[in-house]
Amino acid sequence: MKKYTKITASIGPNCEDRETLIRMISAGVNMCRLNFSHDTGDIQGRKIDMIREISAELNIPVAVMIDLQGPKHRIGNFKTEGKYPLKIGQTFTFDSFDTPGDETRVQLPDAEVLASLKVGDRVLLNDGKIEMQVTSASPTSVETKVIRGTEIWSRRGFNLPDTEISTSVLTKKDRADLEYALTKNPDWVAISFVQKPEDIAEVRDFITERTSAPIKIIAKIERPNAVERITEIAAAADGIMIARGDLAVEVPYAEVPAISRHIIRECRKMNKPVIVATQMLGSMVNSEFPTRAEITDVANTAYLRADSTMTSEETTIGINPVNVIETMYNILAYADADTIANPYDWSRVENIPENDWSRSVASMAYLNKASAIVVFARDTIAAIEISCRKPDIPVIAVCNDSMIANQLCLARGVFPVFSTELFGMRDAFNAARQFHINSGKLVIVDEDKISLRTLD
Ligand code: PGA
Ligand code: MN
Repeated sequence: MKKYTKITASIGPNCEDRETLIRMISAGVNMCRLNFSHDTGDIQGRKIDMIREISAELNIPVAVMIDLQGPKHRIGNFKTEGKYPLKIGQTFTFDSFDTPGDETRVQLPDAEVLASLKVGDRVLLNDGKIEMQVTSASPTSVETKVIRGTEIWSRRGFNLPDTEISTSVLTKKDRADLEYALTKNPDWVAISFVQKPEDIAEVRDFITERTSAPIKIIAKIERPNAVERITEIAAAADGIMIARGDLAVEVPYAEVPAISRHIIRECRKMNKPVIVATQMLGSMVNSEFPTRAEITDVANTAYLRADSTMTSEETTIGINPVNVIETMYNILAYADADTIANPYDWSRVENIPENDWSRSVASMAYLNKASAIVVFARDTIAAIEISCRKPDIPVIAVCNDSMIANQLCLARGVFPVFSTELFGMRDAFNAARQFHINSGKLVIVDEDKISLRTLD
């Protein structure tokens, strides 16, 4: 029980063979992210099956999160495959005409997106390397002025930070992907480019119309309008991902650390787990060692008591995905041990009422110097709420449902134990011993009964 901060690993071409997955899960992966921007259907389904099999064989609970691409926009094709020069100040037009582009114009295939652009809106292409600003707009043709960028070519992705996009958060592709994925009972579903709380309700309806399994929803925060409404979105969703990749294109990059801290704090208040994502160990795509800045970024995520870090390309296409997980584990284990050596003073928890029950649990543990909190987890709510008080001692969750155990893999400091037995005091003691907690006091939480027991 060395680290409290969880690791979410993106699974892709360089780590989806059985052997590598076994080594990554053994090295500390708590949740696998399957990105439907790349593979879909049975190809993803087989990976989910393999993760479930490995988790059962190793007796290590692992969550499966599917990540839907969402409305990620791309421009159309140009006359030739090569690059077309752009000059600062020139006019460039996006229109609805299905003809190949040149130095002056290109098709923007999604008519609804084209129609939502207004004068003054920025169009950012190719990860923000190109910036244009709309100077005149009609539903079929939008004229812009080039502010930044030297070349443009076919199929570049673009971001519209100033534009409220009126299309559904689930594209046609997302609906097909989710429809399939639901047959595989994912523990978590991540939604890209969320803009408002209603987006979460829409996805939840889509899920509940198709399955009664309590599948949980992660809202990916990567648009300015989502940052503005983070409290409402966190209330509607079951968890949050700070999707720094697109976020750093859509908001000024210097704001990303402040926004991240704000989101982590809001999630703590709202009792929702939060994942910090993208480029955490990015240099390890090509290197066996992290940079000093990356080591510090991963450690700071633990110090901010976020629930999970995440790997992206460093595991999907990196030279040594197992080494990436080992590296992340080492950094988190050290930072978490450092935090635990100076236990958290629960009374500093912001904006949580004094009589809040999860605060009482954390304070009872703190005042009695308990070694662990054991929760009988009939659902995920109690364990996640206690985790959000950041008690800095293990929260052991005794679960008799494997989906609950898997979902709790994401929550900071929560260690799920799967048990088919009835929940009794002996199960609580045994669960603690499984994690080598053999003495000291336990705070036991069984629905609304909270008690203090001494291990012997
Ligand atoms: P993506 O999401 O990798 O699906 O774009 C993460 C991010 O934007 O940071
Ligand atoms: Mn993204």
